[in-house]
Amino acid sequence: MEVYEELKKLIAKYEADAEVKTTVKATGCNGLCEKGPLVKIQPDDICYSKVKARDAEEIVTKTLINGEIIDRLLIFDTAKGKKVISHKETDFYKSQQKIALRNIGEIDPVNIDDYIERGGYEALRKVLFQMTPEEVISEVERSGLRGRGGGGFPTGRKWRQCDSIDSFPKYVICNGDEGDPGAFMDRSIMEGDPNTVIEGMTICAYSIKSNNGFIYIRDEYSLALKNMDTAIKQVKERGYLGKNIMSSGFDFDIQIVRGGGAFVCGESTALMQSIEGNIGEPRAKYIHSVEKGLWGQPTVLNNVETWANISEIITKGSEWFSSIGTSSKGTKVFSLVGKVKNTGLVEIPMGTTLRELVFKIGGGVIGDKRFKAVQSGGPSGGCIPENLLDLPVDFDTLKDAGSMMGSGGIIVMDERTCMVDVARYYLNFLSEESCGKCVACREGIKRMLELLSDICSGKGSEEDLELLESLCHTVEEASLCGLGKTAPNPVLTTLKYFKDEYLAHINEKR
Ligand code: SF4
Repeated sequence: MEVYEELKKLIAKYEADAEVKTTVKATGCNGLCEKGPLVKIQPDDICYSKVKARDAEEIVTKTLINGEIIDRLLIFDTAKGKKVISHKETDFYKSQQKIALRNIGEIDPVNIDDYIERGGYEALRKVLFQMTPEEVISEVERSGLRGRGGGGFPTGRKWRQCDSIDSFPKYVICNGDEGDPGAFMDRSIMEGDPNTVIEGMTICAYSIKSNNGFIYIRDEYSLALKNMDTAIKQVKERGYLGKNIMSSGFDFDIQIVRGGGAFVCGESTALMQSIEGNIGEPRAKYIHSVEKGLWGQPTVLNNVETWANISEIITKGSEWFSSIGTSSKGTKVFSLVGKVKNTGLVEIPMGTTLRELVFKIGGGVIGDKRFKAVQSGGPSGGCIPENLLDLPVDFDTLKDAGSMMGSGGIIVMDERTCMVDVARYYLNFLSEESCGKCVACREGIKRMLELLSDICSGKGSEEDLELLESLCHTVEEASLCGLGKTAPNPVLTTLKYFKDEYLAHINEKR
């Protein structure tokens, strides 16, 4: 914000008497976190990186007034080995395709006019005046969109199941309780383009005949909470939310709920408990939320990124959307972090390989160290080794490799990382975040953690590895919710792909 304030101040000073005025906008995250803060100058498409407040004077006097390029502020593209003028020329951006992130970095998130200028709320107008609820559901079904929160359940099918239940009221929920270490996809969308979430939810509400929605936002995400709140107020003022939306006769309102502060509140049934004012504990899912969800009523819950895809599917059509990707359709947003040169927020077509993600978009491993593994899918995901780097990223392939897409966190590890320690780190996280409701998860994760700690400190044995594996299968099978069921993944994948590191720890003591 310092750069933004300084630019605004200086532009006002230098342009006091000028006929043509320059507008300064603060946007959401452009994605290339590694090179931020970025300043983009339009319409010339000049992008400056790592800008400091003290650079503002030079940017205004040299570039804005005299049209000169400031070489030292241009982005250095590691792949090309040279500086580039536009961010769009970098390999980081070129290999991406933006649907959910289409507006982020382009619009002021708290100015609804910016969203409307880029076609915002036209999809909602289309469904309200040109489509029946059934046509909306069919369009989302045909697109092949699957939930981006981790489960990958077909979105259109979920809406249809909810629509088929003849019980009212019905609810629409946005899960913005992103808690995976290293993940910031949903946060960036809520901060940088809150209207896309609101529009997606309202389209769903129309299709399932719901009049009430909730956006459950992680309590630590203060800017997301603020921007979403501002956006909801602006949308209501414009008549795109609330009573009689766009004079269509359809009513839908959205409330924001602050997250309960526990990782497990991101689990759908726990999240609904939390909205109801109860302790956020998961319940068994033999009754689906689409039948009996919030307050026992039919409910559609999707995560932030899923909602961000909806208006584009309606505007451009299901055929366009389903032409992107593999058996998993569309794109996926990832937060790319760890030992990778270009850390940031990326959106790639499903089917892009992990190698392309890490080495082309990510620019390779920091310090050109040897790549060891990527951890995908958050704390319950798995670690994928170098020989599987050519796997296409989609829901099914990652699952077959023992990992998962999860909500989209990708952590790159180099040759110096101890994979047993990585498994221990995630188990420690999950042990602290387990709600303790069921024995398999509460006690099983603790016992696994003890075994891993023993192995790391040279006190383990080969029998411990067998015990560890057997505990993994018990916790997987006997746990109630996704947290427990997937908690063994980091252990199982490191045992599968990096067993030599476990054995090295065990043999160290001899
Ligand atoms: Fe709680 Fe773990 Fe059981 Fe889920 S699996 S309900 S987090 S104890």
